[in-house]
Amino acid sequence: MDWRGRRQSSNIEDRRGQPLRAGGGGLLLLLLRILPWLLRTRAGRVVLAVGVVGFFGARMLGIDLLQLTGPTPSQTASLSAEEQQLAEFVSVVLADTEQTWQRVFTEYGERYEEPVLVLFSQRVASACGSASAAVGPFYCPADRKVYLDLSFFQDLERQLGAPGDFAQAYVVAHEVGHHIQTLLGISQEVRATSRGKSAAVVNALSVRQELQADCLAGVWGHAAHNYSQLLEPGDLEEALQAAAAIGDDRLQKRSGGEVVPDSFTHGTSAQRVAWFKRGFESGDMGQCDTFSAQL
Ligand SMILES: [Zn+2]
Repeated sequence: MDWRGRRQSSNIEDRRGQPLRAGGGGLLLLLLRILPWLLRTRAGRVVLAVGVVGFFGARMLGIDLLQLTGPTPSQTASLSAEEQQLAEFVSVVLADTEQTWQRVFTEYGERYEEPVLVLFSQRVASACGSASAAVGPFYCPADRKVYLDLSFFQDLERQLGAPGDFAQAYVVAHEVGHHIQTLLGISQEVRATSRGKSAAVVNALSVRQELQADCLAGVWGHAAHNYSQLLEPGDLEEALQAAAAIGDDRLQKRSGGEVVPDSFTHGTSAQRVAWFKRGFESGDMGQCDTFSAQL
């Protein structure tokens, strides 16, 4: 991909090299939890009064105490040049998805709300719970953030046999696809329909949702190629290879188990490739109705 020197997104939250922290939200939760004690005892009320005065006093001096729990520049300084470059690459891809989806949403008379992409290493806390890097990249609808441990790109290349920057871009675009589904209310509908259903029905719905995210990734790929001229020869093949590599049948075979179609939640390699291609060739979100299509 011809990505260097392009605009980077301002929606990257870099939490690499940081210990798992509660952040401002966690601080508030802690406060809520000890609030009964604070109000019940005399000592508690004194602590509360000092805290409130201190907090707003600091505010008046221009210091936001909640911000102080956020990332500090020194923590990211220890990253290697390669890690920094990978983060820049992801930032450029995210910026291009913003541009694409802003345009598409405007065409549909809607407003696009940009997602935040959190870079982390090893473990991360999200509004959907804490997760280890082992789960792979994911999107959390509750905080509308994409979570990405860049070591997944290494796995993609070394263990899954899908190298290349466009393969990595496809992974980012797929997660952004889940964000689109959330903005359009599709994810919420899937959750509501899944409630109380058998595992087979829930998995079948999940497959359709995942294939739609692949198709939406393809719609972005179309724009990246035709509008942004980001693609170079061989790039499309990289994405197709990645889509095939992370199909459920392939992943289950790799893990040594028998392929059990009922437990598929992402679609087979062939399905993932087909839906990505459909989005890529048409560039039309309207082509991504995986819910009424015959799979
Ligand atoms: Zn997905």
